[in-house]
Amino acid sequence: MNREIWPESLRSIDRCSPERPSDLHALLESHFGFSSFRSQQEDVCRAVLAGKDVVLVMPTGAGKSLCYQLPGIARGGTTLVISPLIALMEDQVAQLAARGIAAERIHSGRSRLDSRASCKRYLEGALDFLFIAPERLRVPGFPEMLARRKPTLVAVDEAHCISQWGHDFRRDYRMLGAHLPRLRPAPIIALTATATPAVQNDIAAELALCAPLRFIHGFRRTNIGVEIVTRSPSERARVVCRVLGDGGRRPAIVYAPTRSNAEDLAKELSRSISVAAYHAGLSAEVRENVQQQFLEGKIDCIVATIAFGMGIDKANVRTVIHTALPATIEGYYQEIGRAGRDGKPSRALLLHSPVDTKIHAFFLERDYPQTEILSDITKHLAHDNLPLGDLEAHCNLAPEIFARALDKLIVHGGVVVEGGMVRAGTGNWRSAYERQRDHKREQLDKMRRFADKPMCRMLSMVEHFGDQNDTGEPCGICDVCAPTACIAESFRAPRAAEQAAATRILEALRERDGRAVGQLHRDVFADGSLDRRALEHVLGALARANAVRIASDSFVKDGVTIPFFRVWLAGKSHGSALPSDMRIVGDSAQRTGKVRRRARA
Ligand code: ADP
Ligand code: MG
Repeated sequence: MNREIWPESLRSIDRCSPERPSDLHALLESHFGFSSFRSQQEDVCRAVLAGKDVVLVMPTGAGKSLCYQLPGIARGGTTLVISPLIALMEDQVAQLAARGIAAERIHSGRSRLDSRASCKRYLEGALDFLFIAPERLRVPGFPEMLARRKPTLVAVDEAHCISQWGHDFRRDYRMLGAHLPRLRPAPIIALTATATPAVQNDIAAELALCAPLRFIHGFRRTNIGVEIVTRSPSERARVVCRVLGDGGRRPAIVYAPTRSNAEDLAKELSRSISVAAYHAGLSAEVRENVQQQFLEGKIDCIVATIAFGMGIDKANVRTVIHTALPATIEGYYQEIGRAGRDGKPSRALLLHSPVDTKIHAFFLERDYPQTEILSDITKHLAHDNLPLGDLEAHCNLAPEIFARALDKLIVHGGVVVEGGMVRAGTGNWRSAYERQRDHKREQLDKMRRFADKPMCRMLSMVEHFGDQNDTGEPCGICDVCAPTACIAESFRAPRAAEQAAATRILEALRERDGRAVGQLHRDVFADGSLDRRALEHVLGALARANAVRIASDSFVKDGVTIPFFRVWLAGKSHGSALPSDMRIVGDSAQRTGKVRRRARA
């Protein structure tokens, strides 16, 4: 057990808990029917039980709910759970009720009468758990009602929603910070599957957590081999068809960037396998049907849009393919996490090229209008309270641009809309908005750099999430660790010029190790004998052969953090000979060259 989080001094503030560790085990069996804790659950439960505030980051399915439910029961009284989705609430309440635990929920899907009955039970102290939607706290009198009988624990589920850095930013979550103080002194546990260190900081600050303990665990998936391949958009469908033509690589989920891409690709795949498209443009009935058939194994593959969140929990998915660069590492991790839930070897293939970054940049510009546009809107509100329609008419913007800009202003406190009237807000919206937009860009940049960096893919992701208990070992199965296991990438032996370049690189590093890639290029290839892209290919080959290690670094210039890569000598670089297993990727420029030659022949 992690002693650090369970110091003796905490036991004195332990108000209502069983003293002996075995009591938690007993509760685990008697209330939940589980014979043992999963990795880290016990440490978290003990910290919460001891009254500490906690930020818990574990992947989906790791068992986060238990980390508030068990200490909630151990502490006695009522645990208040704030949850963003009605379906999640209903599901949790039903599960708890099935275990004989008194749980209720209050959300917009319930009648006033039912909600009132739940409040009554809460005030009578008859509930172990009360689940509420965050927007409830806006209902006059509701926070006061809660405060009349304070909860003994507060759990904020899907806590990334609170952070404007998170990919699911929810306005109502933002208000939690204002309401939680009156529910104290209960400890608060914030739970999420997708929080980077920036999001964790935001969660802790927004909820005003008190010296929170952070638990960030379980991000390494040992049975998913990630493979990232550069292919132009026109080449990707062919790769997908070839890869999935092998029955051992199905069932599969393919993520396509747009609905029409998903439809087209599904059509192409349908010539050889049973497949269906799945996206938000289809009726609920069709989607339900597709999902059911996939779960039952009647279709072998789903081609889905990334924008559409799927509740698919199918254990034997063998392959997840992305046919375009995702916008964030968080999203990517979540999506590939649907592979290999049964623990058997699985593959995650990502097809991308520089054009993907341009497309993302285009959408970013569209979804996050220039600050000046927002600023112009607020100028019309200098003195007046305007009907929304009048404001729109004054602004003279295309309706969708106006709608997006207004939405951003509302989120960041630049304007307040109430009963169809708009007035100027008091918030310092400008810097908040610009920070959010910069953050989106940064996330995209991190994703691009992740895809470009020839470093163990799993290790790279685990480091991104700041996993605390990770081994730090390369995964041994991704395209960088095990090139021969690749299903889409092809490699070739290095040409004489590439061998010569590799030799010069290793010599230069023996002289001065850890050079930045740009510096290395300037130092060694000032004669123009190797362009930057070719250098990256040679470095990739050396990294895969374990002769060099590439690591991220950054420097700060004018307040802006600028990331770059450094190259270090690694295991097999010490002799004077080049590693014999050095392989260069069969990049698409070269393949197009071959195709052209064949076409001419
Ligand atoms: P998360 O919120 O992290 O996505 P859940 O809390 O919904 O995950 O748990 C996922 C599943 O794991 C649930 O079916 C839950 O009952 C099960 N589970 C959690 N902890 C344990 C445990 N210690 N032993 C066995 N099953 C567990
Ligand atoms: Mg959960």
